[in-house]
Amino acid sequence: MTLTPDVGPDPLSSPNSSPISDSHRRDTEPANAPSAMAREPGQVIIGLEVHCQLDTRTKLFCACSTDYRDDGPNTHVCPVCLGLPGTMPAVNRRAVEFALKVAKAFHCEIPEECEFSRKNYFYPDLNKGYQITQYDRPLALGGYIEIEGEEGGEKRVRLTRIHMEEDPGRLVHKGGGDRSRYSLVDYNRSGVPLIEIVTEPDLRSPKEARRLLAKLRATLEYLGVYDSEKEGSLRVDANISISGHDRVEVKNISSYRGVEKALTFEITRQRSLIRRGATVERETRHFVEARGTTTASRSKVEEHDYRYFPEPDLPPLRVASWVAEIALPELPDARRERFMQQYGLSVNHARTLTGDLRLAEFFESVDASTSLTSPATATWVADTLLGELNYRDRSITTVDLPRLTALLDLVQAGTITDRSGVEVLRAVLDTPEEPAAIVERLGLAVTGEDTVATAIAEVIAEHPQAVADYRTGKGNALNYLAGQVMKKTRGRADPRELGRRLAEALTE
Ligand SMILES: [Zn+2]
Repeated sequence: MTLTPDVGPDPLSSPNSSPISDSHRRDTEPANAPSAMAREPGQVIIGLEVHCQLDTRTKLFCACSTDYRDDGPNTHVCPVCLGLPGTMPAVNRRAVEFALKVAKAFHCEIPEECEFSRKNYFYPDLNKGYQITQYDRPLALGGYIEIEGEEGGEKRVRLTRIHMEEDPGRLVHKGGGDRSRYSLVDYNRSGVPLIEIVTEPDLRSPKEARRLLAKLRATLEYLGVYDSEKEGSLRVDANISISGHDRVEVKNISSYRGVEKALTFEITRQRSLIRRGATVERETRHFVEARGTTTASRSKVEEHDYRYFPEPDLPPLRVASWVAEIALPELPDARRERFMQQYGLSVNHARTLTGDLRLAEFFESVDASTSLTSPATATWVADTLLGELNYRDRSITTVDLPRLTALLDLVQAGTITDRSGVEVLRAVLDTPEEPAAIVERLGLAVTGEDTVATAIAEVIAEHPQAVADYRTGKGNALNYLAGQVMKKTRGRADPRELGRRLAEALTE
């Protein structure tokens, strides 16, 4: 790090910098909103402030380990992150590099110099009485994230800024919620590096907000700077309004899944107020995850004055040479294009499979080891397997790759039908059994020629009307008869052969 005097230009005079100084009090209507984003009356307008923990080994300003989740309270602390008098912070270079990677990946403008500031307020989880964050000279300005738009195609969601800050500690309310009699504070989280990513109010539905977070999360994981499996590693505040009415800030959305729920509830609430002729109050509300609702904060919203000033213990950061050295890995969009080119996948399969780093890697490993074609493998992984995993609330990392490959090979060899394959897949997920043994145990192997021939003969004898229909040229009759044969063989007739054999039998 180079220590330099603070001689940079005043960022507030830069046309690219937002006039907003405190993201928590951000207006949803920036003065520089382009006319392309013009709003229709009744339009939903959403902007997000997303806090992500950077996956560094140590905290932002001290050497305490960030791997605190399985440990007792206040065991990952030192005089710096406890904010004891006389201690000095020292910036974790890796955390800055991680934040710069994110800024570069999202096409932000990265000023040559940025600066940390003190945000002064008192709260028990903030032991110093102030939080070290970035204020008017953030790490990155502007930029955008591309998501799948409502009418297909890509939509650009503009970013206002990305800045770095330290996570506060965590309060534990004993007794739960409103009935708690006292609170405990755990400083293990205090000083963990965060980036706050602030979007412009470009989102138009809860679904778009979910897509934005999914894209954000995937990109951060591709960059290797974030671990979504760590509890509480992503927290969201959302600004929501209906065009022409005041906005509401919903705070405290602490899960990825909660965002769509919180926004959907809030939009319904605001729309119903407007319909009844009531006013939407400009206020801060809290998301109550367990109930899926938002509630007004008990205290009246005050316009806080945080008395920001430059952090006197940290010189401005000159990052230009670091930025030049950052090489970005393949990111989700590039990988999606590659999956379509290299494996011949549909855009939907490619999008699903590349939307999560672990899933993308899993697909490539399976594809490399099975004899099934890539598009068929994609269908199995993106549709069937993901459906079964969602049902079980399990992640892709719990799937036994060799057994899945063995199952797909049985399908490819024609030993089992696709339909039986799904049954085998469920057993692969729920038991430690090998696919071949499952096929044996459940009697799922494709039925022999004789059995199928018998079933065909029986079906022809039992359904004279359908046979007559077929002979007078009604195309559906053949499908109906094939369905009857499948029923008789309990789905074990090879579907690729069945149509041909039935047609043969019917012309005899
Ligand atoms: Zn520490």
